[in-house]
Amino acid sequence: MKYYSLNHNAPKVSFEEAVIQGLATDKGLYFPETISPLTPDFFETIENLSNEEIAFEAIKQFVGNEIPEATLKKIIAETLCFDFPLVEVEKGIYSLELFHGPTMAFKDVGARFMSRCLAYFNKDKKNNTNTVLVATSGDTGGAVASGFLGVEGVEVVILYPSGKVSDIQEKQLTTLGQNIKALEIDGVFDDCQDMVKKAFLDENLKHKNLTSANSINIARWLPQMFYFFFAYKALKKYNKELIFSCPSGNFGNICAGIMAKKLGLPLLHFVASTNVNDTVPRFLASGIYDPRPSKATISNAMDVGNPSNFIRIQEMYHNDLEQFKKDFSSYSFTDSETKTAMKTIHDTSGYIAEPHGAVGYLGLKKELENYPNAIGIFLETAHPIKFLDIVEPTLNVKLPIPQQIESVMGKEKISTKIKTYEELKTFLG
Ligand SMILES: *Cc1c(COP(=O)(O)O)cnc(C)c1O
Repeated sequence: MKYYSLNHNAPKVSFEEAVIQGLATDKGLYFPETISPLTPDFFETIENLSNEEIAFEAIKQFVGNEIPEATLKKIIAETLCFDFPLVEVEKGIYSLELFHGPTMAFKDVGARFMSRCLAYFNKDKKNNTNTVLVATSGDTGGAVASGFLGVEGVEVVILYPSGKVSDIQEKQLTTLGQNIKALEIDGVFDDCQDMVKKAFLDENLKHKNLTSANSINIARWLPQMFYFFFAYKALKKYNKELIFSCPSGNFGNICAGIMAKKLGLPLLHFVASTNVNDTVPRFLASGIYDPRPSKATISNAMDVGNPSNFIRIQEMYHNDLEQFKKDFSSYSFTDSETKTAMKTIHDTSGYIAEPHGAVGYLGLKKELENYPNAIGIFLETAHPIKFLDIVEPTLNVKLPIPQQIESVMGKEKISTKIKTYEELKTFLG
């Protein structure tokens, strides 16, 4: 399989090159040259397949022969080392829980898959080290740290804004040691992001083989389609149409869902639910793509003003807005609506949703007005404990600490404080 740059000004590359580079040389996102639907037979008998078998069928055309079948199956098995339960919170409305992995956010799936692909590609390159450089506002850092821990030939450097991530998130990215290094930046998330972008462009850092581990990297993005297949498998028996609502920030998750549909998965409609960072809902309403600086909200993993994967979605619809709108809606919600939704869900079913999941629920409810007979699924992208500062006072509950979190809370934080890009360069060496 070859990948082309969506800026159309860079050579086509293999899966391996796309994973190692992250972004094309013209700064475009990579996109697969062909997308071949799976056979009708696959969907008819999907309930007889294990999650690992489903994932293998879904991803194999994107990897091609660049990773041997047996190795790819092993990578998938290690990626999917936890469950993806569907919980019915209201009649016909399900929460697809993506947070049962090691760091309790859906990003575990992509981070685990990508790290193992990189490790495979590095295995024969004795003195070659790739450096994964990543800026985080919270969840990405922890998932990347855990996913890449101990992976040979890969150094991970995580930049996070000092004092602006939660205690749990900070522990998840500063306590692992080994090949994981945390840099505490005296600044905000945008400062971290700017430093990372600058480093990728810096000729003097070429020898570090820098790559990214956010959803612009195809090996982090593509495996996120797996759980749409798993949900279909579980709900197929009801023989109803399915609508998915994804709480969206960089739009990697929803873009993976649309890819699953391209592969033939019979999904009726997608809803991109956002907080007040509403670039995409405004685009659907006006036809004008007008990104704005991000605003801080309680669903902070979605505080994104210019969603990087949206261009991939447009590519899948050949930039045909009318066609796109048949499959896709997008709505935005305020923090106060989000908290009200958390309370409503809790009062009616006892279910505890964190703010991102609650935004997904709100978008789903709105869309189901148009499709009263469909089954609706919202993605619950993180465990409530990760947003306990919001969840506990809003719902007046006390959350027990899950074992995954307990095990990092007692460990010692190790980080290096820096302020300037020059300090980052010196650190990278
Ligand atoms: C990253 C993240 C999101 C946003 O996902 P995208 O794929 O970037 O749209 C939503 N919720 C949580 C908890 C996240 O960590």
